[in-house]
Amino acid sequence: MNIEQLKWKMVERPLIPIQNSWVDATPFIALTLLLGASIFIIFKFRKKQSARHIIQLFSLILFAFTFHRCFCAIRGWFFGLSEIGRDNLSVFQNTCIIIPVIASLFIFGRIFCGWICPLGFVQELLKNFGKRLRQIPKLIMLSIFLVIAIFLIYRFKPVNFFVIQNMSSMLGLCLLFICFLSIANPANDLRLKKLKYFFLVIWILSILLGIFVTSPWCAIYGNEIDYPSLIGFISVLLTGLIISMAWCRYVCPLGGLFAALARFYKYTIKGSDIPSEEYKNTCPMRAITKNGTVDKESCIYCLRCTEKHGFKLQ
Ligand code: SF4
Repeated sequence: MNIEQLKWKMVERPLIPIQNSWVDATPFIALTLLLGASIFIIFKFRKKQSARHIIQLFSLILFAFTFHRCFCAIRGWFFGLSEIGRDNLSVFQNTCIIIPVIASLFIFGRIFCGWICPLGFVQELLKNFGKRLRQIPKLIMLSIFLVIAIFLIYRFKPVNFFVIQNMSSMLGLCLLFICFLSIANPANDLRLKKLKYFFLVIWILSILLGIFVTSPWCAIYGNEIDYPSLIGFISVLLTGLIISMAWCRYVCPLGGLFAALARFYKYTIKGSDIPSEEYKNTCPMRAITKNGTVDKESCIYCLRCTEKHGFKLQ
């Protein structure tokens, strides 16, 4: 299949055009409504998991299959800021995703990761599917996945600059290696989670140097899909079968940006004073320690722990 055939969207024209241009206000409105609905559910619903999955499903349908707009918020943000005073439509187009996301971050931290991000949702679904593969040792599965990724990288390598044009595949490869370290010694988990700050720095430096890099999430949004982003995406899916939310935990640069701003969150999850082994199976991000404390840089506000262990949102 030609890579162009994968760029499929239900809506190719703006639904709510601004000043009769190609700039569409619909993704901004949809994202704001989804975030608003998520916050409403958090405050008002007792059983939140089904409602959260409905929001995630809506977001997947809207942003992965409907709008011609992606969540590559960091690159768009930098570009949008550089256009201030020159092209206001471009400023809006490039910042309309990051602004609602950052606004929600000051209230509920990484709520975007746990409620809206389609890549996070896909990984949550995979985690349940991965449970069926438990009988296969994780290191063997990971070795097979690594061979698949290396083969794909070799088969579809870019013609010119191997690393720069292949950044998304490289991120996928790094993710696979990090998963090896995590499985070899689960005690490394907290240290490995800090690596997302490193990938955030690499990502920002690439943008500042004018390098147009793609990422695994380009494959899910489809409008900038290329072979490296597809290989990165496959790596995210494969690791998601073995380690819950591996991409979000260790590599995602956007997650790294959110985590770096953790001190500004208004609401956080307060853990329990009672140590328990059960916590590790509850939290998809392994954000709860055995002692019951919550790592707020990793928490994505899925609220499973509040429903299951009585943790408090405060
Ligand atoms: S700490 Fe609780 S709310 Fe946060 S991600 Fe883990 S289970 Fe979800």
